[in-house]
Amino acid sequence: MANSTEALLQRPLTALIKPDRSPLSLKEYRQGGGYRGLEQALKQLTAEEVLQQVTDSNLRGRGGAGFSTGLKWSFMPRDSSAPTPRYLVCNADEMEPGTFKDRLLMEANPHQLIEGMAISAYALGAEIGYIFLRAEYGRAAVHLQRALQEALDAGCLGNNMLGSDFSLRIHLHTSAGRYICGEETALINALEGKRATPRAKPPFPQVCGLFGQPTVVNNCETLCNIPHILANGADWYLSLGRADDSGTKIFGAAGNVRQPGLWERPMGTPIREIFEDCAGGMAEGYRMRGFLPGGASTDFLLPEHLDLAMDYDVIGKAGSRMGTASLIVLDDQTCPVAMVRNLTHFFAQESCGWCTPCRDGLPWAEQLLNEIEAGRGRMEDLDTLAWQCRFMGPGNTFCALAPGAAEPIQSALKYFREDFERHINDKGCPWH
Ligand code: SF4
Repeated sequence: MANSTEALLQRPLTALIKPDRSPLSLKEYRQGGGYRGLEQALKQLTAEEVLQQVTDSNLRGRGGAGFSTGLKWSFMPRDSSAPTPRYLVCNADEMEPGTFKDRLLMEANPHQLIEGMAISAYALGAEIGYIFLRAEYGRAAVHLQRALQEALDAGCLGNNMLGSDFSLRIHLHTSAGRYICGEETALINALEGKRATPRAKPPFPQVCGLFGQPTVVNNCETLCNIPHILANGADWYLSLGRADDSGTKIFGAAGNVRQPGLWERPMGTPIREIFEDCAGGMAEGYRMRGFLPGGASTDFLLPEHLDLAMDYDVIGKAGSRMGTASLIVLDDQTCPVAMVRNLTHFFAQESCGWCTPCRDGLPWAEQLLNEIEAGRGRMEDLDTLAWQCRFMGPGNTFCALAPGAAEPIQSALKYFREDFERHINDKGCPWH
């Protein structure tokens, strides 16, 4: 176990993880400094002081949107007249194609998430927590359930935690398995046993969430950062970032790279370092043509963007989003039309059907992409696809599924238009 103090200060989220990724027991987690942040929060700080530390750390949500965690928490009514019970929900419905970072955290170090939830719940005055887990993450479910029981038995959860007057119960809820459950209000509906469709906002969940009560929903990786911020301070966390954003991030790479995987690096690490030093560059015989920087629902970037810092605002200015920071690489032997068609098929299938641009637009876009890939496309189909992307864009739908699904399509049309035109002119796929 690489658990030196220095490693923990540089890679707080993953330094304790064992090479075989077997789960850390409570004893092992504590030996590495685990539950120190919770103890400090409960014994030395008020809930407001914990919230202030998280706000000062500039932690941004790691689920994709990058919203300030402290600001999100601040919207929760917490004074003595605020409604109770209040809820904290961990969004562990990790289903974005190409993204598998939360899985590592939950399988290999479940206590880190539990401690993060316990500290967060204390700051929010939430007495009930839920972990909303992706249905297919069976191993994570087993490890989390065992760790929850260990934490309860040791007094790190339950009544009067660690001798304090704060009490928290955390329940593990296994999702029925839909991508839309990753959207926080659809997740809340699913937890209530309803159809998983997003809710109109406002009211926001912090005011009227689960069972109509104040609720904060945070991503798993976001919550895993909290114990380290408490244990080492906001200034330390701020100092970790290499550009504007603070802390570290678990970056991923998938596609025909030498070594697909996950690596914890400082926020602001140049994409080239992740692609070349961590993933080893392209696999033998392949050349990079482009990449989705933050999972399947982000816009393509090109090799010329490799020196950009992986920072929310930097990637945004380049015309894409950092999303989950999981690169999906497009190589020169993969048809971009087929790749985008495959992603669009996924999103069309996962649409909850609540709004027209998504419910009807995505299957239509998929059909057009199918026709183009099969050599039956027409030039005007490209204009229809571009129009579809605008129609599905931000502001036209209840949630971000459709705007996200449009991103790979619109950017493929921008950067790889000649490939689309070649399919149409040659009446077939050049890669088949
Ligand atoms: Fe449902 Fe799609 Fe509308 Fe989101 S954008 S609410 S997934 S139909």
